[in-house]
Amino acid sequence: MKTTIKIGVLALQGAVQPHKAHIEAAGAEFSAVKTLAQCEEVDGFILPGGESTTMLKLIERFELWDGLMEQFSNKPVWGICAGSILLAEKVTNPQQKSFALMPITVQRNGYGRQVDSHYAIIGGYNVCFIRAPVITDVSGDAEILAEHEGSPVWVKQGLRMVTTFHPELTTDAPSPMHKMFVQMVKEV
Ligand code: GLN
Repeated sequence: MKTTIKIGVLALQGAVQPHKAHIEAAGAEFSAVKTLAQCEEVDGFILPGGESTTMLKLIERFELWDGLMEQFSNKPVWGICAGSILLAEKVTNPQQKSFALMPITVQRNGYGRQVDSHYAIIGGYNVCFIRAPVITDVSGDAEILAEHEGSPVWVKQGLRMVTTFHPELTTDAPSPMHKMFVQMVKEV
């Protein structure tokens, strides 16, 4: 088992910095990654919440697609909200390109508009859903770790995990999700 590990948060857009306190409290090092050279230096990735269409545009503009696909295929990855959309096998409302590394279907903005953003307790922890996608299908041997309003919101398969909610905006660090992810990365 690794002792010192570094978690890279993809820092093209979205909620990056709030992860620092959680990652450190879970016993790992935080790094905001923007280039493939930086990606090579980390042991696992968080694709943060934000706006998936903007992230996709920036990934294309900086020609990161193939390099990121290779990185995400070989190391643990956790996609949060927009990040879960980037990892989903299928995206609806509308359809869009994705890395398709998690056997889930997500419906973008499935809980409604910005005014429908809300807090909830998941895994005993206060989290928020911000224009979150709804996971409408889970296939293969993916494990549903939590549900909310009748749909899965925390799903894990092997070294990949998605949450459709943000745990990093709660200041009580580390969140149970960060703890679990850091542990997954340590065990690789
Ligand atoms: N609505 C955003 C999207 O479709 C996701 C919002 C979030 O990451 N908090 O990409």
